[in-house]
Amino acid sequence: MRYERVRVSHALSKSGLPDLDYAFNPYAGCSHGCLYCYARAFTRYPEVARNWGRVVYIKENVVEVLEAEVKRVKRGLVGVSTVTDPYQPVEAWEKLTRRGLEVLLRSGFRVSIQTKSPLVLRDLDVIAPRRGQVDVGFTITTLDPALARLIEPNAPPPGVRVEALRKLASEGLETWVFLGPILRGVNDSEASIAGVVEVAFETGSKLYYDYYHHRPELVESMRPLLNRFPQALATEARWRERVRDAVEKACREIGAECAPAFPEAKRAKSVLEYF
Ligand code: SF4
Repeated sequence: MRYERVRVSHALSKSGLPDLDYAFNPYAGCSHGCLYCYARAFTRYPEVARNWGRVVYIKENVVEVLEAEVKRVKRGLVGVSTVTDPYQPVEAWEKLTRRGLEVLLRSGFRVSIQTKSPLVLRDLDVIAPRRGQVDVGFTITTLDPALARLIEPNAPPPGVRVEALRKLASEGLETWVFLGPILRGVNDSEASIAGVVEVAFETGSKLYYDYYHHRPELVESMRPLLNRFPQALATEARWRERVRDAVEKACREIGAECAPAFPEAKRAKSVLEYF
């Protein structure tokens, strides 16, 4: 991994994602290197996009910029983060996410954290006293560790995420699970979906789901997956309907709450326009 320090002039960006007012991304790039990651198409740093998963920029002054911005902008809900994992390994020593959370929460913003890492537990002392202002979501695409290693090569394994989710829920925090992207022939079986739904139910977490959305930028990164799952990019309407029915049936059967991450009623022309 190569890390570079950069300086920024903005800390909060307007978010097009459903229900979020702002996004706070303290890093550009993400060392988790998920093959399907759309975020590489939305970074303003070409070197990071070209080397997704291998180069991460550390926005070294982002917290100072944030401190100035929170005095000026309207309070709202901030996604932490939307195009990077806020708890990827670099956060262990840089602590930009932690310091950003401190600023946002004491300034009266609500925060929605999304991660794949148990490092979020380090910041329980910051978020637990602000339960009403914070929710935490874990992305769990599969419970199969070998499959997770293939599609999310450097992210913590699913079992570790589940344990962290349990801990957060046991602390009384609002938690949720993002089951996505669902990829054809990869993690779309009824058994695979039901396993993740079960985790959501057991932890009292709402489950959001979404399908894979292909972009030309992802052809190269998806190649290792396509070698084993040649149909993974085929996401036509009939398949999406089958997946939606499978998720909703699994939720109904055990009483879990679930919803599409991008509801049709609010949907932009392409889901990727949200970013
Ligand atoms: S953890 Fe999220 S931001 Fe990081 S590579 Fe994976 S999908 Fe992208």
